[in-house]
Amino acid sequence: MFTLCSSTQAMQDALPLLLEAQYLLVDFEGRLLGCENGALSLISIGTRTSASDSGVQVFLFDVLSLSKEALQPLLEILTNETTTKYFWDCRKDDLELRRTFGTSFSRAATIDLQLVDILSRESSGETEIMRLQRMTRRGHAVHALRQLPTQDVHALISLKNAPSEHRIGPVRPEKHDPDGASHDAWMMRPLPQANLDYAEEDIRLLAQMYAHFDAKGYLEPRDELVQKTARFLCLHPVPIPIGDVYRSSDLLPLEVLSERREDDAVYPCKGCSRMLSRGSFVHDRGGRDGRVRRKPWCKVCNILRIRQALLETGGPTIANIAEKGDVTVSQE
Ligand SMILES: [Zn+2]
Repeated sequence: MFTLCSSTQAMQDALPLLLEAQYLLVDFEGRLLGCENGALSLISIGTRTSASDSGVQVFLFDVLSLSKEALQPLLEILTNETTTKYFWDCRKDDLELRRTFGTSFSRAATIDLQLVDILSRESSGETEIMRLQRMTRRGHAVHALRQLPTQDVHALISLKNAPSEHRIGPVRPEKHDPDGASHDAWMMRPLPQANLDYAEEDIRLLAQMYAHFDAKGYLEPRDELVQKTARFLCLHPVPIPIGDVYRSSDLLPLEVLSERREDDAVYPCKGCSRMLSRGSFVHDRGGRDGRVRRKPWCKVCNILRIRQALLETGGPTIANIAEKGDVTVSQE
């Protein structure tokens, strides 16, 4: 069960519970979230209360039906530094918060459980071959990936797949939209039941993952997770163009889990356009002089462009693609 808050009264009834909460589970729903032509529809929030069956009460705040004034107290809770907010991939949600309301989640009180999942892999005994296998789901075989530099590259998993990955839930079919509903259905009022159920389910999954990570001790040290999440939050400064394979992928962008040294020189990546340090780029030793040259793509974008080329052409080998179009941009 969930509580749909689409009136000022319903909002006022929900606020005391949110204000009392030690932490909140947060997820945004909408049309093409984080992308060009995207729009926010619902703010879903879970909070632990003894009054609800599963211990987690779910509120769905209808952004389209509530005025900005009515939403203001909720925005203050979402952006404060006192209540920790847990997400599964906060990047697009933060962009929508900025686009819709001109404010951001606190960089001091946000923790992304998608990053916690990656960090937990070492503790749960993930081997190198398992790390590579995760990256092959939408791409090439492990032997092909082994020809590419993949150090520090990690595959992201979806919230829907997280319980089965951690062996605390069944394997689910990957669904990007509620059954029978298109992205545009998020902007319809009244919202279709399928969309409301979908939004509630995401918070229930988030609650399940939070409880699992908490029991395993993966939510500590908190300050470290907050710092890593703060770097993750900054990744979408502007809406993502539809079809941009570099800025919206199933690989974790580099220099999120580890902090770059302040005095490191940075260079733009030709794929994601991010400014990254030298170690994040692909290098080539192929020149006649034998010097190591930095390629224009970071290690993540290099995998993505090769994967994309394979999808488009269906034919070339990894080696052909890796040679084609590689331009040396500097000699270092
Ligand atoms: Zn890149």
